[in-house]
Amino acid sequence: MKEKCIFGPVQSRRLGMSLGINLTPYKTCSLDCAYCECGKTTDLTIIRKDYIPIEQVQKTLKRYSKSSLFRSKPPSCVTFAGFGEPTLHSGFGSIAQFVKKTFPDQHLVLITNGTLFPTHPELFQEVQPIDIILPSLDAGSEEIFKKIDRPHPSITLASLVDGLIQLRENYHGQIWLEVFIVEGINDSESELYLIRDAISRISPDRVQLNSLDRNPAEDWVNSTSPQRLIAIAEFLGAELLSKNSINIQVDALV
Ligand code: SF4
Repeated sequence: MKEKCIFGPVQSRRLGMSLGINLTPYKTCSLDCAYCECGKTTDLTIIRKDYIPIEQVQKTLKRYSKSSLFRSKPPSCVTFAGFGEPTLHSGFGSIAQFVKKTFPDQHLVLITNGTLFPTHPELFQEVQPIDIILPSLDAGSEEIFKKIDRPHPSITLASLVDGLIQLRENYHGQIWLEVFIVEGINDSESELYLIRDAISRISPDRVQLNSLDRNPAEDWVNSTSPQRLIAIAEFLGAELLSKNSINIQVDALV
């Protein structure tokens, strides 16, 4: 079956009107997050390959760029997201360059779990055309990382954080770090201290707190109230703002 490689444009809370690009078959990812709104991961992998032929992606994007839909209502950004981890596609770098050339007036955005950076340093070069990278960090301890994000066995939280620190050093676009709060799991004081420490080391431009909005992969994932998210933002922000000038946003409220 031919995979759908573009979707939308859809209105995004964070990004405005966004055209989505999907580069993997359903549901191919290096994590199996309990909160994933796409459902459970069926192919838990760290192997980079040509999951959807590059020519198919380029042809579809070219057609869309010439369509009356694009001309009458151009999106504000083009976003790599979809049914899995976009950087698993071995042609990610050349597709990103193609998108940048085809849509020069749109912001180019990458939503990624960030887990491939430590083992695939070529990605630091491949992400250069991207304007905004939104990586995830949902835990401060290995135990909670395994519970919420259920990684491929080769991935640890320590390697993820190291990869994001290296990303900061090698990439000069915007990094907006997303922290997904799962009530009763990663919102204890001790876990939040560890998350705050990791954020401080990664030094993103912005932190966005998020919580459940649609159906999760696992029914034990509960959403967190806006009031609680605000309290967590204040806890994280008190030190981060003064030390690193990192802007903390409660995504559910923007
Ligand atoms: S990294 Fe994203 S796509 Fe992969 S399981 Fe987690 S939420 Fe779903």
